[in-house]
Amino acid sequence: MTLTGNLLIGQQSVAGERQSVHGINPATNQTLEPAYAGASTEQVEQACALAWAAQDAYRETSLAARAEFLECIASHIEQLGDELIERAHAETGLPHARLQGERGRTCQQLRLFARTVRAGEWLDVRVDTAHPQRQPLPRSDLRQRQIALGPVAVFGASNFPLAFSVAGGDTASALAAGCPVIVKAHSAHPGTSELVGRAVARAIKDCALPEGVFSLLFDSGYQVGIALVSDWRIKAAGFTGSRTGGLALMQAAQARLEPIPVYAEMSSINPVLLFPAALHNRAQALAEGFVASLTLGAGQFCTNPGLLVAQKGPALDAFLRAVTELIPHSTAQTMLTPGIFSAYAAGVTALQDNPRARTVAAGQSGAGPNRCQAHVFITDAVDFLADHRLHAETFGAASLVVQCSNNEEIRQVCEHLEGQLTATLHVDDADLALARTLLPSLERKAGRLLVNGWPTGVEVCDAMVHGGPYPATSDARTTSVGTAAIQRFLRPVCYQDFPDKLLPTALQKTNPLHLHRLLDGQREDASHGE
Ligand code: NAP
Repeated sequence: MTLTGNLLIGQQSVAGERQSVHGINPATNQTLEPAYAGASTEQVEQACALAWAAQDAYRETSLAARAEFLECIASHIEQLGDELIERAHAETGLPHARLQGERGRTCQQLRLFARTVRAGEWLDVRVDTAHPQRQPLPRSDLRQRQIALGPVAVFGASNFPLAFSVAGGDTASALAAGCPVIVKAHSAHPGTSELVGRAVARAIKDCALPEGVFSLLFDSGYQVGIALVSDWRIKAAGFTGSRTGGLALMQAAQARLEPIPVYAEMSSINPVLLFPAALHNRAQALAEGFVASLTLGAGQFCTNPGLLVAQKGPALDAFLRAVTELIPHSTAQTMLTPGIFSAYAAGVTALQDNPRARTVAAGQSGAGPNRCQAHVFITDAVDFLADHRLHAETFGAASLVVQCSNNEEIRQVCEHLEGQLTATLHVDDADLALARTLLPSLERKAGRLLVNGWPTGVEVCDAMVHGGPYPATSDARTTSVGTAAIQRFLRPVCYQDFPDKLLPTALQKTNPLHLHRLLDGQREDASHGE
């Protein structure tokens, strides 16, 4: 398929009217064709107007029709074949196998949301039937369901060019909820974005849906993104990226006449606590697991283990010796963009220049541009608590070990952490009592707690929480991975004393969709009507 460099405004493939952006091969710093001209203000408006016009018809599509649409997108992405993998490889430097896995995850995610849509549980139907004889006042018939929020702006993430980009988790969950989506493509992978965007547009045509259900816009700066979240027709936004970018979009969303939610996933250092018995019993295995997790994908995972916390002593010394032997074998990997590489290099230099931190080990530096050299640093708990710069995310394969003199220092380190996507505990039986005392603090800090694993690797499923308090995300009440992500784009509506014929199908008395409903305070069987 020939890449056009065009925007997709509904079903129209049109050239942008502002300054262009090119993909850059981060392995060579070569510019990739074609150029992607940025959308003008009028083109952003057109996409928003189409999304607005599409919303009511789209959110009332049948559960089956919407599920088929999501499955159709997955099929069209698969049909792109190797061309998608080759272009994504050229634009991101990510290895082919990683991208193939990510494509599988993207399609599985769309199909999981299709299953979720079909099951209809997300409608969360609640019925309180009328009590006309109730004293002193009669009760009305009250019925609640969830409806789509309206058009959603999605910002593709640089570090997941497929699974968290044009047809990734934010888009899949918003479309599943019944929201039209306008994607602001990440400038790091415009060609990949065009290919996937055209797959989505094809699915819209195949499924005979309104064209405004999906648009794809490019930009060489921040104008399109800000214009999108500022447009009155956009009702929510999904974002993964830097804290600065997320905050800028949140501020724009709050400055509107009608503020809207921005679900932003920003920064997390994912603390890993190595408890005394676990460290004593398996220092070598822990070091191997840590180095593998730290260096996976050049450390460009939001769940990368950026902070280790452990008590000083011979067990920690053995762990550090093993890390010192392993890290120099780690080869330098190409980072996603020259910008991300510069930010990583600046973060590493800041740690090297900080008198409160010392280098434990460094990986291979590698030849060629934008190569990530792994780094492990160490500091004392008192220094960590005194210097907030040591709490910052260094996006890439860098991690800081915080050595504590006693359990109270471990507790204090946990208490002083910012919000996190994950917190990990490596424990043996003898550690459980101490672990239990730290759990209340860790639950307050993180969206996902893991035992004896590593935080990289986020399962897409019903129970996953990929979220957490600020700055991990802008809204700790939700998740951006897993089927619960659909709830971000829904809101409840109550229908009072509606005649059955005027009610939405999901709320009708015969329960024609066979939903599990909360009927007069009781969970009822899906087959029941009233
Ligand atoms: P980014 O700079 O925040 O960019 C993400 C998206 O937001 C892009 O579409 C970008 O536009 C847009 N954007 C950025 N700043 C904006 C602003 N002030 N106003 C409006 N739109 C804005 O993130 P990135 O390029 O992916 O990576 C940069 C850094 O983000 C990394 O070094 C890392 O620190 C962090 N990051 C964190 C995670 C995580 O999950 N924790 C993931 C990825 C990145 P353009 O496309 O035009 O740049």
